[in-house]
Amino acid sequence: MSSLYIHIPFCKSKCGYCGFYSLPSMKLKDKFLDALKAEIIARKDYLVLNRHCGLDPQSLTLVKPATALPFEEKDKAIETLYFGGGTPSLLSTDEIAELLHLINKHYPIAPNPEITLEANPDTLSERYLHALRETGINRLSIGIQSFFDDDLQYLGRQHNSEHARNCLVWAKQAGFDNLSLDLIYGLPTATADQWNRNLDLFFDADIPHLSAYALTLEPNSILTKQIEMGKTLPIHEDDALRDYEILCGRAEKEDFLHYEISSFCRRGMHSKHNASYWFGTPYIGFGPSAHSYDGTARQWNEASVEKYLDARLWDAGRETLTPEQRYDEYVMLRLRTHWGIDLKWLKSKMGERFSAYCEKQAQSLINEGKITQTREFLYLDDRQMLFADGIAAALMWDD
Ligand code: SF4
Repeated sequence: MSSLYIHIPFCKSKCGYCGFYSLPSMKLKDKFLDALKAEIIARKDYLVLNRHCGLDPQSLTLVKPATALPFEEKDKAIETLYFGGGTPSLLSTDEIAELLHLINKHYPIAPNPEITLEANPDTLSERYLHALRETGINRLSIGIQSFFDDDLQYLGRQHNSEHARNCLVWAKQAGFDNLSLDLIYGLPTATADQWNRNLDLFFDADIPHLSAYALTLEPNSILTKQIEMGKTLPIHEDDALRDYEILCGRAEKEDFLHYEISSFCRRGMHSKHNASYWFGTPYIGFGPSAHSYDGTARQWNEASVEKYLDARLWDAGRETLTPEQRYDEYVMLRLRTHWGIDLKWLKSKMGERFSAYCEKQAQSLINEGKITQTREFLYLDDRQMLFADGIAAALMWDD
């Protein structure tokens, strides 16, 4: 299996906390779409087969290498497509349908693929959502961030809470059953009670997937500058820790699976696309700053839209990971998930040198209760997951 990503680099305006590259203007949209279509066609032979054993992200169940199927053509098929940004919902539904048609024409798509589009409420209407569902998009990830206007104003978002709630109703009416919301916690405008009420609204809406992120200060973001100048409320780490604790407790009570630091879902409703990254599946990415991975090497495009318009500047960088880098990446990514590190996989795919090193490095953290060990796995419980990056650092390869 493999995955496909399309990056749409435009936004209506810049949110205060945003650290991503995106253009707050649609001036280059038509030229960008021409370049994007050219890239989709030009790179149609990029994806190569890479047999994948270990955990099967489709079922979240163990697939032992010994039971893996032999090579088949279907293994090359693209099982997940993802429109990310920026704000992909700034594209018209005709433009989205045309891109999907082009991909379908040039790439092998598996039956019933997961096709996700990231959307911002300020771009959504009842009519748009119905037309969007008709294009074949079958999973929608909506950047609600909060159901409260004071939070939204603090974050510099363009929508209000009433419109956010309407979007959920319209999306469901349009037939988006596979729906995900983004919420941000740790806001100085929100008390614990307000964060709890945000979660009440989420769970009451019967949405199967939640991505919840702690507010962080990105270098050079508008919010960071405003805080530095004393023009708005500073953020406090304690608020994020408090809200994360509330979030874990609420998710547990609602029987939501906490499958990655920021990701929660009803059983079986995880993001297959995101899981494919954590499981080392080959992927192809189109658009400015998009990365691709063929199973051994990674390559990426220029981040700037202007440079992306010139096809000679695609493929701006490329790297082949050393075994040690692949080990570090595996540890870093997998400790962020509830699947954790599969020691048996590590030994069979990367060698005993790595599995033994990993176990040795983990020992003191196991003794301190920070890492849980079963016979074959090392993983973090959901409270420890928030500290995954720091814990992973202790397991990194050190020559
Ligand atoms: S919509 Fe997303 S990408 Fe665009 S400015 Fe806001 S946070 Fe950044």
